[in-house]
Amino acid sequence: MYLIDPVKKQYKANLHAHSTLSDGARTPEELKEMYRNRGYSILSITDHEYPKSHTDLSDEDFLMLTGYEVYIRSNPEGNYKVYQKEVHLNLFARDPENETLICYNRPYIKYMPDEVLAERKRAGSEEQRIYTPEYINMFIRTAAENGYIVAYNHPYWSIENYSDVMSYEGIFSMEMCNYSSYLSSGLEYNGALYNSLLYAGKRLFCHSGDDNHNRRDEDDPEFDSFGAFTMVISDGLEYGQVFSAIEKGDMYSSMGPVIKCMSLENGILHVETSPAEHIYVYNGSKKPYRIHRKSGEEPITSADFEVKDSIMYLRVSVADENGNRADTRGYFRDELRM
Ligand SMILES: [Zn+2]
Ligand SMILES: [Zn+2]
Repeated sequence: MYLIDPVKKQYKANLHAHSTLSDGARTPEELKEMYRNRGYSILSITDHEYPKSHTDLSDEDFLMLTGYEVYIRSNPEGNYKVYQKEVHLNLFARDPENETLICYNRPYIKYMPDEVLAERKRAGSEEQRIYTPEYINMFIRTAAENGYIVAYNHPYWSIENYSDVMSYEGIFSMEMCNYSSYLSSGLEYNGALYNSLLYAGKRLFCHSGDDNHNRRDEDDPEFDSFGAFTMVISDGLEYGQVFSAIEKGDMYSSMGPVIKCMSLENGILHVETSPAEHIYVYNGSKKPYRIHRKSGEEPITSADFEVKDSIMYLRVSVADENGNRADTRGYFRDELRM
């Protein structure tokens, strides 16, 4: 069976971006152009507490995925406090025209003009947001009931950990790399956290995004575009096709490498990739399957791994010569027909 089918098209996506509608420096039109020029086919502009359809910018070979970013903080003003934990979620809309504001709370609306706010549909509790698992899970349920799928953003930046993520229900995918936070911390690559969640049986996918705000020049070391992306494996670029691929986990995360094929047949996992230094296959045990490029040899472009019956899950991670990783989601035994 194919986990990544080499025949299917892969579309490069940035699923986390900010525009001038919130605290980003580029307009939606500028963002579309810059990402298209770099070979991307999908962009989700996820402005803070600002649900907005950008489908007017979609065309034959570029899709704008409707979404927005929400946050829940533990102070009543909803203010940023540098030592305080908070949670950020990206909501992606099944219906491209869905601009429903979930759990409206006035202090959190920092960018949307009053006249726009007045025409936005609202859903769910409008009580003061509180940073507790109960409130956050209610928020996620409300989003799901109103046509959104909910992704979990930048755990490291949020000062959240394994226990926090374990307490959230209904998250379909988490950010493996959030590039903006990775640039500022060197730590927002969440491979270890993701593995520990899979080990605990948590069913969630992984993806990556730039979370670009574009406040710095292109030659600045913290220029935050084009560093972490998601490859969406889809039959086409229509909104419904792309949304359903993402919802089903037909995607993988990358900071550079491209995984061209991943298949499991008769106990052999076969991987094909762009030139790599290492391939790791995490499986829930202390011993990932792995292969390293030997000195004097060509980079690795394909490998086969014998898969034991005892594995808990399978997940491929490829590292290139710059240390950049591509990461598939975890596939559990029942999905692998084992
Ligand atoms: Zn955020
Ligand atoms: Zn963001």
